[in-house]
Amino acid sequence: MAKVFDAIVIGTGAGGSTAMKILCEAGLQVCALNSGPRIDPQRDFRGHRQVYDLKYRGHGDPLRLQDKAHQEPYSVEESEYSEGRDLFEHDVAYSNAPGTDWYWKRCKATGGKANFWGRSSARFGDIDFKAADLDGFGENWPVDYAEVSPWFSKAERYMGVASTIQNRPSNPDGEYLPPIPFRCIDYIIQKGAEKIGVPYLPDRCAQLTVHHNGHPRCHYCGNCSRGCDVGSFFSPTWFTIPDAEYTKNLTLLTNALVRAVLVDESGMASGVAYVDRTTRREVEVHAKVVVLAASCVETAHIMLNSKSGHWPSGIANSSGQVGRNLCDHLYGTPGYGYLPQLLGQPARPDNIADSTVAWMPRWQNLSNPREERFIRGYSVYMGGGCGEFPGYFRHIEGFGSKFKRDIKRYYPTPIDALLQAPTLPSPTNYVDIDPEKKDIFGIPQLRFHFQWGENELLMWEHSKQVMIDLFKAMGAELWGAGSEPDRPGTSLHETGVCRFGNDPQKYVTNKWAQTHDVPNLYICDASIFPSCTDKTTTMPIIAFTMRTCDHMLDNFRKGEHKRA
Ligand SMILES: Cc1cc2nc3c(=O)[nH]c(=O)nc-3n(C[C@H](O)[C@H](O)[C@H](O)COP(=O)(O)OP(=O)(O)OC[C@H]3O[C@@H](n4cnc5c(N)ncnc54)[C@H](O)[C@@H]3O)c2cc1C
Ligand code: SF4
Repeated sequence: MAKVFDAIVIGTGAGGSTAMKILCEAGLQVCALNSGPRIDPQRDFRGHRQVYDLKYRGHGDPLRLQDKAHQEPYSVEESEYSEGRDLFEHDVAYSNAPGTDWYWKRCKATGGKANFWGRSSARFGDIDFKAADLDGFGENWPVDYAEVSPWFSKAERYMGVASTIQNRPSNPDGEYLPPIPFRCIDYIIQKGAEKIGVPYLPDRCAQLTVHHNGHPRCHYCGNCSRGCDVGSFFSPTWFTIPDAEYTKNLTLLTNALVRAVLVDESGMASGVAYVDRTTRREVEVHAKVVVLAASCVETAHIMLNSKSGHWPSGIANSSGQVGRNLCDHLYGTPGYGYLPQLLGQPARPDNIADSTVAWMPRWQNLSNPREERFIRGYSVYMGGGCGEFPGYFRHIEGFGSKFKRDIKRYYPTPIDALLQAPTLPSPTNYVDIDPEKKDIFGIPQLRFHFQWGENELLMWEHSKQVMIDLFKAMGAELWGAGSEPDRPGTSLHETGVCRFGNDPQKYVTNKWAQTHDVPNLYICDASIFPSCTDKTTTMPIIAFTMRTCDHMLDNFRKGEHKRA
């Protein structure tokens, strides 16, 4: 393409699409590249069909991935509901080093994973940014809460986040829409939690309880994980991408798999090289500034593959830190069972089982950062209520009509817990380029090296004990707990690998997410977060992207970057 753009944005997910919107609205000519096809809500979000109307009862054709490079099916969001469309990444394979079992789920369609996300959207606070000062482990973030909170407000006001003011030390309050009403189970759990001194509060959920900025309020159909057909929760498909397109300053290239960032004779970013998936040909596109937002580890993958005379170990990697310190949330089920007091009760229309209605925000190590055997802290979400599908079937033994009767008898009493425990940065958890393997497009593959650490495994054990106490306190029967945590990668909240910080020898970008080595290369995803917290990442990705773009626009105004 002969045209030179003001900015190229790689990826159109939560981070990339927010960058596109802000830069386009500021009048920049932006070229966005997305590795997969354009999502079409009419065709792709068909959540209102019943499972019995689907040929494979929602699971999809078991042979559908047999010719793919990466054949592992993804979970709930990749289902028969969107089948027929190639929305998830199975062509770009990755590898795991011996002893690593990373599960890398990728949505390659425009909008990325936030088409199907869980919408939990809490703010980070100084307890996270300054954690190293508190417990002496690792490093602080290069920002503090007072500096970042205006962008959290900006993100919340744009997205629409439902919650309440809670005055919790680990969870700064924000600007909220009315909360999602508690379900029957939430009142029972809250009473039990109170007895054992654990908070149980409305989550911060980016789901519209009222009409918001032209988007309709939620009609509580409960199908969010299959994509919202009316746009009642924040997703790039319904929010940022249309806003960017409205400016007419956006050129959106789909099925454009970026292989590398290109550099000019001085080592600055000059554009990108991508594989056009439809023709399998490599194409180049050029711009004055390049924004990487391909999602946490994919951003590191592209950087490590961007080798040149200037950057022999990958672009902006003079520190050797690109790919290092991969962090994740340990997910697992520390307890599941049922509430006997609800047996025989009628189902109520609380069909929001797909939403993070309520959670137990971190309550450990608050007044004393070393009160527990582990440092930092974790949070827990509770699932249950009158969801459409009785997911608890897997906890009930049986066969045939008796099995069905038992499942029905327990509805809607079962509940389960989901642990969200942050890992600590570790030199043994990282990604690099597999020296031997390439994907079908000839691009060297990413390789994961990752093990759970002692700290998060202590949290896992702790949470199982808490569930024993909680189930007793609420008069519930505990059926059991997961025998081990879920596989690494399951949470989709990976962070690290391009950490931001002030020292160019230790960090990949400065505190504005502008790479130290290549000032016209920016990063807008969770790869810059130096550590993992007990909260999820997407709202902070959006807030930090807004902050980074404001800084970038300042640099355009000051002449540090020139318009094309
Ligand atoms: C079921 C589910 C539940 C979740 N629940 C929550 C939750 O409750 N709260 C929360 O905060 N988060 C949640 N998440 C995670 C959340 O979706 C992600 O944190 C967020 O969407 C990440 O945004 P991103 O833009 O960084 O990456 P992505 O959404 O992965 O977007 C990356 C984009 O880059 C494109 N891309 C990738 N590689 C290339 C390449 N080489 N060339 C060109 N384009 C490329 C992809 O096509 C994609 O569009 C959940 C996710 C899922 C799937
Ligand atoms: S429950 Fe609400 S947000 Fe979720 S898919 Fe239905 S209308 Fe959309």
